Amino acid sequence: MSQLTSCPRCSYTLRGLPAKHRCPECGLGYDEHSRIWRRHPRWRELFWPAFIYVYIFSTSFGVFQTTPRYITILILLCSAGWALYIVYNYLILIRHGRFAAVLPDELMLRLDKKESISIPWGNITRVAVKPSPLGAVIFLKKEREVKDILGVFSKRAEAEMFVQCASVQISKLREGDVSLGETHET
Ligand SMILES: [Zn+2]
Repeated sequence: MSQLTSCPRCSYTLRGLPAKHRCPECGLGYDEHSRIWRRHPRWRELFWPAFIYVYIFSTSFGVFQTTPRYITILILLCSAGWALYIVYNYLILIRHGRFAAVLPDELMLRLDKKESISIPWGNITRVAVKPSPLGAVIFLKKEREVKDILGVFSKRAEAEMFVQCASVQISKLREGDVSLGETHET
């Protein structure tokens, strides 16, 4: 978890700007309570795919010597394609990065290679920790829809912190509604 140093939507640097401001580039609002959780890819996660590939590659010249050559080539091509796919996904993850950002007006997410999405706090009922696989669940008001945030937090404490920060924003909005209702009554 960290404070915003660059705009989650357009990557414009926010360093040197006031704690509560709007992104000069795209107008995204943020304040001193805004936080972002990013998933940083770890190269050691590529160890097992690399190991399995090397294993298949080396054994296909030994064990598979008796099997027809075209099967050996097919296995090699498949495993090479699979290895490339995993590396490609990793590069995409590094290039764009998954994140969840708690902003004053909205929850901003980018969970895959697509563009980031924004959910206004008013559309969220509550947020909870999802223990396995580690993540968070967003309960949306609309038709009891649920949205999972996966692959952003690396520790349970991070997910708990996220839920805490998001809950503060949701309850703030609710308090705002109540006070608004009271002024209407008087
Ligand atoms: Zn921006």
